[in-house]
Amino acid sequence: MPAIHRLSPELANQIAAGEVVERPASALKELIENSIDAGSRRIDVTVKGGGKRLIRVKDDGKGMSPEDAQLALERHATSKLSSLDDLMGLSTMGFRGEALPSIASVSHLSLRTKTSDVAYGVALRVDGGTIGAPSEVGMSNGTVVEVTELFYNVPARRKFLKSDGAESSQVSRAMTQLALGHPEVGFSLTNGARRVLQYPPVRTLDERFLQVYGDREDLVKVGKKAAGVVIRGFAAALTRHGAARGVQNIFVNRRVIKDRTISHAVHDAYARATVKLRSPEIHLFIDLPPDQVDVNVHPMKAEVRFLEQSLIHELVRRAVGDALGQPSSAPMPVALHSTELSTSPSNPIPRAIPGITSGISPVSHWSTVTEIMRVARTEEARAASQLHPRSIATDLDNDAALDKSGPLMPLGQFRDTFIIAVDNEGIAIIDQHVAHERILFEQVLAQLSTGPVEGQRLLTPIVVDLTSAQREALETRTVQLEQLGFEVRDFGGESIKIITIPGLLERTEAESTVRELAADAEGFDAGAKVNDVIRCLAATTACHAAVKANDRLTHDKMLYLLDGLRRTEYSTVCPHGRPVVLRLTRNEIENSFDR
Ligand code: ADP
Ligand code: MG
Repeated sequence: MPAIHRLSPELANQIAAGEVVERPASALKELIENSIDAGSRRIDVTVKGGGKRLIRVKDDGKGMSPEDAQLALERHATSKLSSLDDLMGLSTMGFRGEALPSIASVSHLSLRTKTSDVAYGVALRVDGGTIGAPSEVGMSNGTVVEVTELFYNVPARRKFLKSDGAESSQVSRAMTQLALGHPEVGFSLTNGARRVLQYPPVRTLDERFLQVYGDREDLVKVGKKAAGVVIRGFAAALTRHGAARGVQNIFVNRRVIKDRTISHAVHDAYARATVKLRSPEIHLFIDLPPDQVDVNVHPMKAEVRFLEQSLIHELVRRAVGDALGQPSSAPMPVALHSTELSTSPSNPIPRAIPGITSGISPVSHWSTVTEIMRVARTEEARAASQLHPRSIATDLDNDAALDKSGPLMPLGQFRDTFIIAVDNEGIAIIDQHVAHERILFEQVLAQLSTGPVEGQRLLTPIVVDLTSAQREALETRTVQLEQLGFEVRDFGGESIKIITIPGLLERTEAESTVRELAADAEGFDAGAKVNDVIRCLAATTACHAAVKANDRLTHDKMLYLLDGLRRTEYSTVCPHGRPVVLRLTRNEIENSFDR
């Protein structure tokens, strides 16, 4: 007797099910994707027992003929692909012809389906993989799939399922994600006797987002189009407290995926903007030509592979970074007085979800400056596009048309703390300290990317007494401090001696800076990433090196600061999240004087 034998189709399906169907939510995802692929406009889902007892998906899609319905339950039967070439250019969610037979092999499955050209539908039942005889049923056009007692014949799997409540929340999450990916489809979810979700079909992602998450003032809108890639979405705004922690939903061509490249790009964008790093809430929708992405790399289709990974990284980083540079309506409390300005017909505000800023703040008269940054970005874009003619930067060039503001010219100081400046488009009030802090922070980071920051040796070292905990904490960060241009030695007991400080720092600031660096060092978690540590220490150093409030500035120094600010990537907030600029636009001024 040969040692090798063929697996029975039942067993092969059950093994496939082990990969495709992990829990009720993953079975549901496959069924809904089938309904979407069938062109449905309405998908109604009912679950019981968190989906363990029942999952029912009813759609109004194109349905199947009786022959196709039979075939659909067989392994590797699909209507979506006939050659390997089809895979690179796929526009459907499914393609392997595995889901239905896999689910059917580990449950009781009933399938009813009807196409529009026949009077009756067909009903089929599968029990643990065995297909029963078809029968005729009266039903409306579309398909109803019912899965009961998932994993009834695979006790090992059933044991791993969680409580009804936990499985229910996974089901809701999967539904929400599918709904976000497909705004034009209406979804409802009934759990037991309770209607838990209901999203009527809408035209745009914005509308669907509003249905799902409501009016979110703490998010900024992401939008970028370049090199055939469209990136849209919503990201946690920068505030004084950092960015709101939350879920990270990443969609590529409408599929929810996990992807390290994209996560890294998002992290990178936030890391450049703020030192208060937590895992920020973000919902990103990336669309690119199907031949630029391989979707066949993961059993549950939860990962993809990009043809041009580094391009995607750069685009996502820029898209998110640009969005973070936009003013958020939430943390800016300043509003002089309200007028109808923003809704006057001559000055239409682009339609956006209320509360989610679209670059123009309809709420506040005063808004943080974005013009300064546009100039900088346009210049950067031009430089970049000369390097890579067919690069993302070409689309950024379109921003140039929007930029009519010209450079900001300082008029003077207010209370020796704020610079008052004007350009063609209005008046700006700039917090001199936070502006300088932002400039220096970005300069230090830029320098660190090429090597350590240059230090200046003090003529006479400065001795500082610290607590023993601070001294020890500082010692563990010696390497990072040296990269930032500090050289600090033990001076016996709890004292330390500052020998070298970074060039940008004044000697008079050395002691207070090192004290704060020691406090920072004490505050880091043991597992803190080195890069995050360096950024935080750099921000502290920048804060101490920056001009202070109540410092009288010369005209030249003001010019220097405004010019520096123009070159920063994120000129709206300092690395600790304080706002840099308030702005009164020309429109606002003219309207206030009835001009
Ligand atoms: P795949 O989606 O990878 O093709 P499935 O096993 O999920 O594989 O489905 C097999 C086939 O059954 C699909 O290709 C499709 O033709 C048909 N099908 C499944 N569900 C539906 C549905 N809700 N409406 C219409 N056709 C469906
Ligand atoms: Mg499928």
